[in-house]
Amino acid sequence: MADQPHRTPRTLHPETLAIRTQTPRSAEREHSTPLYLTSSFVFDDAEQARALFTEEEQGNIYSRYSNPNTDEFVRKMALLEGADDGIAFASGMAAVFGSMAAFLRSGDHVLASRALFGSTHQLFTKLFPRWGITATYVDADASADAWEAAVQPSTKLVFVETPSNPGLALIDLDMLGQLCAAHELMLVVDNCFTTPMLQQPMKHGAHLVVHSATKFIDGQGRVLGGVVVGNADLITELRFFIRHTGPALSPFNAWVLSKSLETLSVRMERHCANALAIATHFEDHAELDFVRYPFLASHADHALAVRQMSAGGGIVVLELKGGLDRARRFIDALELLSHTPNLGDVRSIVTHPTSTTHSKLSEAERVQVGIVPGMIRVSVGLEHRDDLIADIEQALERSK
Ligand SMILES: *Cc1c(COP(=O)(O)O)cnc(C)c1O
Repeated sequence: MADQPHRTPRTLHPETLAIRTQTPRSAEREHSTPLYLTSSFVFDDAEQARALFTEEEQGNIYSRYSNPNTDEFVRKMALLEGADDGIAFASGMAAVFGSMAAFLRSGDHVLASRALFGSTHQLFTKLFPRWGITATYVDADASADAWEAAVQPSTKLVFVETPSNPGLALIDLDMLGQLCAAHELMLVVDNCFTTPMLQQPMKHGAHLVVHSATKFIDGQGRVLGGVVVGNADLITELRFFIRHTGPALSPFNAWVLSKSLETLSVRMERHCANALAIATHFEDHAELDFVRYPFLASHADHALAVRQMSAGGGIVVLELKGGLDRARRFIDALELLSHTPNLGDVRSIVTHPTSTTHSKLSEAERVQVGIVPGMIRVSVGLEHRDDLIADIEQALERSK
């Protein structure tokens, strides 16, 4: 149960925790956690029902509140991120929304990094203003002084993504952790691009860590899901919001996601190794203006990347010579890589941010977050790297 203290000792390594954190074995003596597809749970007697509802007794009542599969997934994520507790959501966006909506009220102000996932940007610009919540964007490369100067008396929370999607700009989490501690602000980090295997924002002073589990955590492009982990008191407050607004994760999706976590460490190792190989191979290619990858020495934030992340991640950004038309011809010339808006899949994927995920931004807004018309985001999968390199090579050649 999410409300119970974690029983898995924290001294185990992340690889072990992701595998051995498991729902208690049932009377059937199963080895692998079964799927608990049940919307509600039976009370032993009238007294137990009363005690569960008053929270004198901890236990399952109804799957919008808790479910063994959801709890196992959340417990693993909290252990991997070094957080006290967490809550699962039906999607990454439900998690992003909940991580802020549960704590903000009319008149509050949010400071956010400018380069954000598209729907998070819509939250700040179109939805929160309806409820009197305002947001200010700060550039990814802003100094500590610039962040400090943007803090207002009504600022309640700081929300960032690092590395950013798709520009791969990094933000110094230690710097933000100190800023938030000094001003008593909540620091919320969307850690979707790195997963806890590469970066753990709680260590740098984050209060909540948000994930779209749809990406690397599922890792096989099957289900939507989200999760927020963090300090116990904040999660208690968030739990009230979630129980009564209802964005609960399906137990089936939770079961899939918990199984996926068992292989997260090996998958991330390969995603990162393949991505580094591709970034290195294409770095000086004649048909590209630049290649961006946090663990290339040429990356503007390379020193920070090496300090804050244990590997460079699975996303590589290529900027093709020839702009928009070239980028479109390149995508249509690919034979192996998929063209789809997801990322973090075993299958390598290309996306053209200008015409898809970031098409709702103005040209000026795109430039501010480093998106140019010839930019292609590559989510590097687990296929053999030579096959990926060969496909990108032939598509560069054919799209000339
Ligand atoms: C995909 C994504 C989200 C939203 O997640 P969904 O599961 O699609 O709702 C949020 N943040 C980042 C960084 C993402 O890549």
